[in-house]
Amino acid sequence: MSQSDCVFCKIIDGKIPSPRVAEDSDFICIRDIQPQAEKHLLVIPKNHVASLKEVFPEQNARTEDQEMISRLFSFAGRVAWKEGLLPGGYRSVINTGHEGGQTVFHLHLHLLGGKLRSTFG
Ligand code: AMP
Ligand code: ZN
Repeated sequence: MSQSDCVFCKIIDGKIPSPRVAEDSDFICIRDIQPQAEKHLLVIPKNHVASLKEVFPEQNARTEDQEMISRLFSFAGRVAWKEGLLPGGYRSVINTGHEGGQTVFHLHLHLLGGKLRSTFG
C-alpha cells in the first residue's frame, strides 16, 4: 500500500518522475539523486514498508516481509550484473532508523559500485 507522504511511493506511483533502471512486479531500481559512488542505485520494494525494523520486529514477525528481503537481494543481484557492477563487485547498504542514517522511511537497498565519493557505509 502506498503512503501519500512517502517520496519512494510517489516514484513508484509515477507521481515523481524517476527513470527505472529495472523493474519487476515487486521492485524498482532507480539511480540515487545524490550519488555517493560512481554508480549508486536504489532497489525499492513496491509495497511500503518503513524499514528493516518493521520486517524484523521484536515480536510478531511477518514472514511474507521476511521472504521479500530474500527476493530483494535476488533482484539486486540481477541488476548488479545488468548495470556492470558484477563481476567486479559492489557494496550493499540498508540504513535502518534515524541513528542508522536512514532518511527516507521506505525500505531500500543501496547498491554502490566503482569509486566511492564519501565515507558512506
Ligand atoms: P537513506 O539515507 O538510506 O534513507 O537513503 C535515502 C536515499 O534516497 C539518499 O541517498 C537520497 O539521496 C535518495 N533520494 C532521496 N530522494 C530521491 C529521489 N527523488 N530520487 C532518487 N533518490 C532519492
Ligand atoms: Zn513508501
